[in-house]
Amino acid sequence: MKTGIVRDDRYINHGHESHPESPRRLQSVHAMVDSPEMASLFVRIPPRYASEEELRMVHTKSYIEEVAATEGQGIAWLDPDTQTSEDSFQTAKLAVGGVLNAVDAVVGGKVNNAFALVRPPGHHSHSRRAAGFCLFNNVALAAQQALKKHKLERVLIVDWDLHHGDGTQDTFYESNSVLFFSSHQYPYYPGSGALQEVGNGDGLGYTINVPLATGAGNAEYLKIYQQLLVPATLAFKPELIIVSAGFDTYFMDPLGGMKVTTEGYAYLTRMVMDLAKVCCKNRLLVVLEGGYHLQGLTASIKAVLLELKEETKTQPKMLEMIASGASSDYDAVISKVKDKLCDFWYK
Ligand SMILES: [Zn+2]
Repeated sequence: MKTGIVRDDRYINHGHESHPESPRRLQSVHAMVDSPEMASLFVRIPPRYASEEELRMVHTKSYIEEVAATEGQGIAWLDPDTQTSEDSFQTAKLAVGGVLNAVDAVVGGKVNNAFALVRPPGHHSHSRRAAGFCLFNNVALAAQQALKKHKLERVLIVDWDLHHGDGTQDTFYESNSVLFFSSHQYPYYPGSGALQEVGNGDGLGYTINVPLATGAGNAEYLKIYQQLLVPATLAFKPELIIVSAGFDTYFMDPLGGMKVTTEGYAYLTRMVMDLAKVCCKNRLLVVLEGGYHLQGLTASIKAVLLELKEETKTQPKMLEMIASGASSDYDAVISKVKDKLCDFWYK
């Protein structure tokens, strides 16, 4: 497998070390990907600064100007959680540009799959406001790039971050070109993501929310994804799969209450890779969102990268075996999601 990687020192230039979404998150990840055993495995995809026209695929002009006004300033706050520093506007544009270049590389066939190691994260960012550590919605812009520039008709976004991807959901809530699947701790920040939120208008049925009580680990996540993501994806037939990859479901994450381990992220990656193989010539783009336990974040990203590259290759039987050990605590939510969307994906 040819696996691309977006990795750039400039992604450190945003925010402060006292904030959970700190520059230190990527410093330890960079040391890992630069190590001799890893560095030779991946194709570097150089990032670029996204243009205003590209940002406008999701964001309003006035919101882009609001973020631009923070340039050169000290600490500023765009919302109670979302801090900027003097370089944040440029770094956020570089995050978008890195992700857009990764879309081009994956859809253009330069690589089979890719991991964009960018910050700031994006999935809480709305068209006209920042939220939850996110400035511009990297993943929503990536999907728009695939639809508008590459003329794809169906893109799947899988959001396995601990938190609901509310900004991404809002962007495509009335669209049937994007199937948005989010599993998240619930009730929790940002408050949205109830299973009744299933899209609207043309997008009715194209948003799948799986709200979860705390405590889900590898087995439970695999079972939920096998039962809910796999059939919906096979029916939707995406031409590209994008993952909003948060690692705050890690069992030691300071913000989360889930129990996923490093291996668990490799298993989820394999499941999504298997879907990409069946549906869309392996086309898969993984984009970094949250994850605040520094060692856990680095080890988990490494596990995902090695699975993407097929240095490790989790077998389907292994996934089945692990999922079969899931507690029944999440069976009710699986049934409710299936009932709610039985006319669309779970006939
Ligand atoms: Zn998160």
